[in-house]
Amino acid sequence: MKHLTCTKCNLDLPEDQFHRDSSKESGRKSYCKECAREYNRQWREHNKEKHKAMINHWRETHREEYREQQRKWREDNPDYVPETDENLYDWDGDNVRCRSCGEYRHKSLFYFYGPNKRYIQMPCKICRKGE
Ligand SMILES: [Zn+2]
Ligand SMILES: [Zn+2]
Repeated sequence: MKHLTCTKCNLDLPEDQFHRDSSKESGRKSYCKECAREYNRQWREHNKEKHKAMINHWRETHREEYREQQRKWREDNPDYVPETDENLYDWDGDNVRCRSCGEYRHKSLFYFYGPNKRYIQMPCKICRKGE
Protein backbone atom coordinates (compact mmCIF):
# COMPACT_ATOMS: atom_id res chain seq x y z
CA MET A 1 0.00 0.00 0.00
CA LYS A 2 1.12 3.52 -0.80
CA HIS A 3 2.31 5.61 2.10
CA LEU A 4 1.61 9.29 2.57
CA THR A 5 3.11 11.81 4.93
CA CYS A 6 0.62 13.63 7.14
CA THR A 7 1.14 17.38 6.96
CA LYS A 8 0.06 17.80 10.58
CA CYS A 9 1.78 15.04 12.54
CA ASN A 10 4.47 14.38 9.89
CA LEU A 11 4.04 10.61 10.20
CA ASP A 12 4.49 8.37 7.22
CA LEU A 13 1.24 6.38 7.20
CA PRO A 14 -0.50 3.91 4.88
CA GLU A 15 -2.90 5.53 2.43
CA ASP A 16 -6.01 4.13 4.17
CA GLN A 17 -5.20 6.23 7.24
CA PHE A 18 -6.20 9.25 5.21
CA HIS A 19 -9.74 10.23 4.23
CA ARG A 20 -10.47 10.27 0.54
CA ASP A 21 -10.44 13.65 -1.15
CA SER A 22 -11.00 13.65 -4.89
CA SER A 23 -9.93 17.28 -5.14
CA LYS A 24 -6.40 16.27 -4.11
CA GLU A 25 -3.87 14.93 -6.62
CA SER A 26 -3.10 12.02 -4.28
CA GLY A 27 -6.83 11.29 -3.88
CA ARG A 28 -6.44 11.65 -0.13
CA LYS A 29 -6.53 14.38 2.48
CA SER A 30 -3.20 15.94 3.34
CA TYR A 31 -3.61 14.96 6.99
CA CYS A 32 -4.37 11.60 8.53
CA LYS A 33 -7.68 10.45 10.05
CA GLU A 34 -6.30 10.84 13.53
CA CYS A 35 -5.39 14.47 12.89
CA ALA A 36 -8.74 15.07 11.20
CA ARG A 37 -10.47 13.78 14.31
CA GLU A 38 -8.42 16.08 16.49
CA TYR A 39 -9.10 18.98 14.16
CA ASN A 40 -12.86 18.35 14.28
CA ARG A 41 -12.80 18.06 18.03
CA GLN A 42 -11.02 21.38 18.34
CA TRP A 43 -13.39 22.96 15.88
CA ARG A 44 -16.38 21.81 17.91
CA GLU A 45 -14.80 23.00 21.15
CA HIS A 46 -14.02 26.34 19.61
CA ASN A 47 -17.53 26.79 18.27
CA LYS A 48 -19.09 25.64 21.48
CA GLU A 49 -17.22 28.43 23.24
CA LYS A 50 -18.26 30.87 20.55
CA HIS A 51 -21.86 29.78 20.91
CA LYS A 52 -21.73 30.10 24.68
CA ALA A 53 -20.19 33.55 24.38
CA MET A 54 -22.93 34.61 21.99
CA ILE A 55 -25.65 33.50 24.39
CA ASN A 56 -23.95 35.24 27.30
CA HIS A 57 -23.61 38.38 25.24
CA TRP A 58 -27.29 38.27 24.33
CA ARG A 59 -28.26 37.83 27.96
CA GLU A 60 -26.07 40.73 28.97
CA THR A 61 -27.57 43.10 26.43
CA HIS A 62 -31.05 41.87 27.18
CA ARG A 63 -30.51 42.45 30.88
CA GLU A 64 -29.38 46.02 30.22
CA GLU A 65 -32.43 46.63 28.08
CA TYR A 66 -34.63 45.21 30.76
CA ARG A 67 -32.99 47.26 33.50
CA GLU A 68 -33.36 50.40 31.40
CA GLN A 69 -37.04 49.73 30.86
CA GLN A 70 -37.53 49.30 34.57
CA ARG A 71 -35.65 52.51 35.31
CA LYS A 72 -37.71 54.49 32.80
CA TRP A 73 -40.90 53.07 34.12
CA ARG A 74 -40.04 54.09 37.68
CA GLU A 75 -39.11 57.54 36.40
CA ASP A 76 -42.51 57.87 34.73
CA ASN A 77 -44.26 56.55 37.82
CA PRO A 78 -42.49 58.19 40.75
CA ASP A 79 -45.45 57.88 43.10
CA TYR A 80 -46.23 54.36 42.13
CA VAL A 81 -48.10 52.48 44.79
CA PRO A 82 -49.64 49.24 43.66
CA GLU A 83 -53.39 49.72 43.61
CA THR A 84 -54.25 46.47 45.15
CA ASP A 85 -57.58 45.73 46.67
CA GLU A 86 -57.34 46.01 50.43
CA ASN A 87 -59.82 43.22 50.82
CA LEU A 88 -57.93 40.82 48.60
CA TYR A 89 -54.71 40.86 50.59
CA ASP A 90 -53.59 41.18 54.16
CA TRP A 91 -51.61 44.39 54.40
CA ASP A 92 -49.42 45.58 57.22
CA GLY A 93 -48.01 48.91 56.10
CA ASP A 94 -45.88 48.09 53.09
CA ASN A 95 -45.95 44.43 53.87
CA VAL A 96 -48.27 41.85 52.42
CA ARG A 97 -49.01 38.48 53.88
CA CYS A 98 -47.88 35.65 51.66
CA ARG A 99 -50.58 33.02 51.34
CA SER A 100 -48.05 30.26 51.11
CA CYS A 101 -45.60 30.91 53.93
CA GLY A 102 -47.92 33.13 55.95
CA GLU A 103 -45.17 35.72 56.44
CA TYR A 104 -45.68 39.45 56.08
CA ARG A 105 -43.22 40.43 53.43
CA HIS A 106 -42.36 43.74 51.83
CA LYS A 107 -44.32 44.37 48.63
CA SER A 108 -41.09 44.33 46.63
CA LEU A 109 -40.97 40.62 47.37
CA PHE A 110 -44.10 40.05 45.33
CA TYR A 111 -44.94 40.28 41.66
CA PHE A 112 -47.78 42.58 40.71
CA TYR A 113 -49.90 42.05 37.67
CA GLY A 114 -53.14 43.05 36.00
CA PRO A 115 -54.51 46.53 35.21
CA ASN A 116 -52.62 49.15 37.26
CA LYS A 117 -50.70 46.24 38.74
CA ARG A 118 -53.72 45.68 40.86
CA TYR A 119 -53.13 42.11 41.78
CA ILE A 120 -50.42 40.40 43.74
CA GLN A 121 -49.12 37.12 42.55
CA MET A 122 -48.92 34.54 45.31
CA PRO A 123 -46.75 33.14 46.70
CA CYS A 124 -43.96 35.59 47.47
CA LYS A 125 -40.66 35.58 45.55
CA ILE A 126 -38.97 33.77 48.39
CA CYS A 127 -41.46 30.91 48.24
CA ARG A 128 -41.11 30.84 44.45
CA LYS A 129 -37.35 30.46 44.71
CA GLY A 130 -37.86 27.46 46.93
CA GLU A 131 -40.14 25.74 44.43
ZN1 LIG B 1 -1.59 13.08 11.25
ZN1 LIG C 1 -44.03 33.18 50.89
